[in-house]
Amino acid sequence: MRSAKGRSLPEIPDIIQGLERHYMVTRTDSDGFITDVNKNFLEISKWTPKRVLDKTIWQMFPNSNDESALVHTIWTDVSNGKTWFGAAEKLTRTGESYFVSLLAIPHVVEEQGVTSVTFLELDMTEDIERRKQLQQLAFIDYETGLMSRHKLETTVDEAIAEDRHFSLVHLTIDHYFTLKELQSSDFEIEMIQAFSNRVKRYFQDNPIARIGVNEFIVITPFGDWYVQGFLQFLEQQPISINHSPFPLSVSGGIVRYPEDQISYVHLMKAAVAATKEVTKNGGGKIASLSPASHKILNRKTMIDRKLLTALNDNNLQVVYQPQRDIASGKITLYEALVRWEDEELGYISPDELIPIAEENGLIHEIGQFVLKESAILAASWHEQKHDVGISINTSVREFSNDMMKNKVIGILAAAGCPANLIQIEITEKFAFQAEEENSIQRQMKELQEIGIEFALDDFGTGYASFRYMEHLPLTKVKIDKEFIHSLSTRPRTKQLVEGMIRFGKSMGLYVVAEGVETEEQYDLLTSMGVDAVQGYYIGMPVTADQIDLTNQTY
Ligand code: C2E
Ligand code: CA
Ligand code: CA
Repeated sequence: MRSAKGRSLPEIPDIIQGLERHYMVTRTDSDGFITDVNKNFLEISKWTPKRVLDKTIWQMFPNSNDESALVHTIWTDVSNGKTWFGAAEKLTRTGESYFVSLLAIPHVVEEQGVTSVTFLELDMTEDIERRKQLQQLAFIDYETGLMSRHKLETTVDEAIAEDRHFSLVHLTIDHYFTLKELQSSDFEIEMIQAFSNRVKRYFQDNPIARIGVNEFIVITPFGDWYVQGFLQFLEQQPISINHSPFPLSVSGGIVRYPEDQISYVHLMKAAVAATKEVTKNGGGKIASLSPASHKILNRKTMIDRKLLTALNDNNLQVVYQPQRDIASGKITLYEALVRWEDEELGYISPDELIPIAEENGLIHEIGQFVLKESAILAASWHEQKHDVGISINTSVREFSNDMMKNKVIGILAAAGCPANLIQIEITEKFAFQAEEENSIQRQMKELQEIGIEFALDDFGTGYASFRYMEHLPLTKVKIDKEFIHSLSTRPRTKQLVEGMIRFGKSMGLYVVAEGVETEEQYDLLTSMGVDAVQGYYIGMPVTADQIDLTNQTY
C-alpha cells in the first residue's frame, strides 16, 4: 500500500501485530463458536484457552434482555457481511462485568459467505465506571437528563415518609429492540431523547426517571385517566426522527401508593408486572394490574415479608420421605422437604415458597435450616446405630455463594453428622449453571471428597444435557414424577423411562424413580431394573418424630 505522498504505509502484518498488542482479539467460526483468542483477552476475561474454545461468543455476554438483544444485533450485522462498532458489556468467566468498545469484522469469502468473524475489543471499564459514578452523584441520566434510578428511590421514599398519595407509572416503548435493529445506530439515542421529551412535556413537573435502556418511571398525584391520556397525547404529537413523524406504541403499568403497595421495592415490582401483563396482551395500553394478578402479587409480597420472621421464629418445618433401595429391600435414605404453614396465609407449598426465597435471597437461610435439622436427625440415628441417610434439595443460588462448602462442613461438624449420611439433590437448571461456573463445580467436588453424594433431581424435565454427567460429581439420578405418573397409560413414556434407566446405569449411576404411587408402577419399575423408589406407595413425607427406624415404619 502506498500513501498519496509515496511513503509506504505499515504492512498488514505490522498492523495485525499492533492490534494484537493493544486489543483483545477473539475469532469465531461462522456459527459463533470461538476458535482463537489472544493473551489480552484471556487476561481480562479470566478464561483459560482450553475452557473458552468450545464456547460460543454469546456466552461471553451477560444474559439480560438488553445484552441478548445487542448480541443478536451484532450477530445479524456480521452474518450479513457488515462490520459492527459500538459499546458492549461483557462477563468474565467468574461473572464480573467489564465494558468494551467493540469492533466486529466478518471475513467474507466469495461464494461461501461469512467464514469467520474477528472481534477487536478495548477495555473501557474504568471510563464507564467513572461515568456511572458521576451520574450517581448528579442523580441524572446521562442521555436524557431524567432522574436516575438512585434519585427515584430517594424521591419515592420521601413521598412515602410524608404519606403523600401518588401513582407510580412504569412506561416502555413496545418492540423497542426490533425498532432499533431496523435503524441506524444514532437512531436509538434520538428515539429515547425524543420520547423522553414527550414524557416531560406531558407530565411536566412530576418526577420522571429513566431506569433502563427503554424503561421510564413517572410519579404523579393524578389518577389513571390522566396517565392514560399520555397515549392520546403521543398519538397527536408523535415524535419525529429525521424530520418525519415516527409513531410509537407504548405500554405501561400503574400502581397506587398506598392502596396497592406501600414500599418502593414492591411498588416498582407491581408496576413492572402490570406493564408485562399489558405487553403480553399485545401492548399499546397503560393499565393497572388486573385484580387476579394483584391477588397473586399480594400473596407473593406477603410471603416475601413474612418469611424472615417465620425463619427467625422457627416456624418452618422439615418433613422426611422414605426411599426404598430395591436390592436390599430397605429404607436407606429419607428426602428432607421444607414445610410452612402460616396463620394468615395458610399452607405455603415449597413450589410457591422456593422461587420467592430464591429471589429475596432467603434461600440461603432455608437451605441451612433444612440441612441443620437433617444433620441433627441423621446424627441421632447414627448414634442409635441406624445408618440411614438424608437427602436435601438445593438451589443453584445457594452455591453461587463461594462459602457454601464451608457452611455445609460447619453445620455437619456442629451436629456431629458423618458427611456420608448427607446427600445433596440438584436440578438440571442447577447443573446447567454449575457446568458454566467453576466455583460451583469446585465446591461440589470438595464436598464429594469428604463423602457427600450428589443426585440429579427431576431428571428428564429440563435442559437435559448429558454433558453434566461427565463434568459434575454426580452419582445418582432421580427420574421425575411426571414420567412415572403416565408410565402405565402411555406406551411412549414406558420406553422413555426404560431408556433413562438404561442410560443412567450405563453411566454407572444409581437410578431412583420418584412419585411412585401404585403397586403397578412399583412392579414395572423394579422389572426395568431401577435401583430405588420413592413416592406415596413407599411412604408419605412425615415429621421426624413419626419415623421409627427399629421397625422400619414411617
Ligand atoms: P422434589 O424435589 O421433586 O420433591 C418431591 C415432591 O414430590 C415433594 O413435593 C413431595 O411431597 C412430592 N411427592 C412425593 N411423593 C409423591 C407421589 O407419590 N406423588 C406425588 N404426586 N407427589 C409426590 P413438595 O414437598 O411440595 O416439594 C416440591 C419441590 O420443592 C421439591 O420437588 C423441591 O424441588 C422443592 N423443595 C422442597 N423442599 C426444598 C428445600 O428445602 N430446599 C429447596 N431448595 N427446594 C425444596
Ligand atoms: Ca428432590
Ligand atoms: Ca424431583
